[in-house]
Amino acid sequence: MRSSWLRLGLPFGLVVTGAAASAIVAWREADRAQATARLLMKDYASFIADKFVQLSASRYRVTIGFSDSVPGEPSALRALEEYARKRESTPAAELPLPAQTVIDYLFAFDTEARSLAFSGRTPAGPERDRLLEALSAFDPRCGANQRIAVGRIPGSDPGAGDALLCSALVETDSRGLVRRIHGVCLDRARSVRRFFAPLIQPSDGGACPPDLLPASLAGIRSAAAAASFVLRDGAGHSLLASEPGYTDSPSVRRALSPEYPFAGWTIEVAVNPAAVAPLLPYGGRGSPWPTLVLVGLLVTASGVLALAAVRRENQLSALQHDFVANVSHELKAPLARVRLFNELLLGPAAEDAAKSASYRRIIDRECRRLTILIDNVLDFSRLKRNARPYRSEELDLSATFAEALQSFRAASDQGILDLRCSLDPVGTFRGDAQALQQILVNLLDNAAKYSPRGSPIDVALTSDGGWARLRVTDRGVGIPAHEHERIFEPFYRSKAGDGATTGSGLGLALVSRTVTAHGGQIDVQSEPGKGSTFVVSLPLAAPAAS
Ligand code: ADP
Repeated sequence: MRSSWLRLGLPFGLVVTGAAASAIVAWREADRAQATARLLMKDYASFIADKFVQLSASRYRVTIGFSDSVPGEPSALRALEEYARKRESTPAAELPLPAQTVIDYLFAFDTEARSLAFSGRTPAGPERDRLLEALSAFDPRCGANQRIAVGRIPGSDPGAGDALLCSALVETDSRGLVRRIHGVCLDRARSVRRFFAPLIQPSDGGACPPDLLPASLAGIRSAAAAASFVLRDGAGHSLLASEPGYTDSPSVRRALSPEYPFAGWTIEVAVNPAAVAPLLPYGGRGSPWPTLVLVGLLVTASGVLALAAVRRENQLSALQHDFVANVSHELKAPLARVRLFNELLLGPAAEDAAKSASYRRIIDRECRRLTILIDNVLDFSRLKRNARPYRSEELDLSATFAEALQSFRAASDQGILDLRCSLDPVGTFRGDAQALQQILVNLLDNAAKYSPRGSPIDVALTSDGGWARLRVTDRGVGIPAHEHERIFEPFYRSKAGDGATTGSGLGLALVSRTVTAHGGQIDVQSEPGKGSTFVVSLPLAAPAAS
């Protein structure tokens, strides 16, 4: 019982352990792939956010004129420079009007006079005061007699949502002190539309700027399909948000360049997972874990099978070893008895008729046993070489089996066994008479071997539903249920029952093969201590045995 639990439990345990191990490996693999995907998405988001900062800054520079402006387009800085030059000769010169709609107003500040002039719009009240305050406190720390362009007028709180968006041209005197500041103040909403929105959604409906996305995502024409963008001011209010938002992806936030008027503004970027997935092995879901589990199971199962095969091999070699010992004993014991009783027959005891008849019967029995054994060994070796040809002749089964019973009659008459036979005529059958007789001889030999001396053995041949059934029933030691299949394996000998009885372990293996070769089957019903019944079923309409 314990060993059968072990036999079942060990492979089962191995399979479960193997499955669990492969599931853990698969799970970790999927987890690692997820981590890689998130890392990649974060890297891409950083790349896109940095590019967004760069590209928006350069749009601003070009528009306002801090770098090469677009030829033919008005540049606010150039206009302010001209105005500054004009003022040298004509102090009353008028501030030009802002040429771009993104500019809310232009201003001109004179530090000595603390005068502030505007064109475009004239801010009033607190806005004017804030600007004045910022301009008064402005110290560009540059050399003397210079005219410098400043991207941002510091002083207006960048953390405030309504920070001033100013750029300026600053003039210094011979001591390096600020003389005048001419500048632009941008409109918030229009700045967003002019500098930032086109990067995400070009107004002409075209593709996003070619540099915005990394080369591997360049196939995606719309920036909003590659990533989501949220532009916020210094107070964290959303100024621009693309649709849809990829909230499940890791997002990256970057501050816009602090040198430009948009100090404190940030851009937040999250990459679309669907855009990145094709770039990842297995689409970022990790290796196909069901396949991994399956592979793991297969590997474990083959390991278990290999283990079972090795165990079986070991068992087989042990059985073969036993077989050699058993057969040697099986050959030597009857031979020794034949020699002994033959010597007795040759001696004075031969004159006693009763004694000599008994000696001859013993010699006959031993020779019969020897014949069975040798037949079995030879047949088995022929079967192993596939060199056992079965004849195919029309047979009367009851007559064939009756002939086989003859060799047991003597033993029955002597009371060694109590043979009871009932052979019904079952019709004709095509097969090998000698092989079929050997089936009965082996079954009867076993019945006698594994039963107490003189105990009844029934042999019955019947027919039902196109099948001939040969039953051999004994009241002997019986066979435990877990061995019912194994006893038909070559060399297998039961450990239970009568351990002293010798044998080759070949009889039932041969019986089973012969029955199968005749298109039939063999079954056993047995209980330890109660006896056994072997049932051979042969198909009456079967074709000739192969
Ligand atoms: P053996 O030469 O050992 O009898 P067999 O192949 O004929 O070899 O039988 C295999 C095993 O099956 C036997 O060792 C025995 O344990 C068991 N067996 C076969 N027939 C019987 C039976 N009638 N009663 C009890 N055990 C049997």
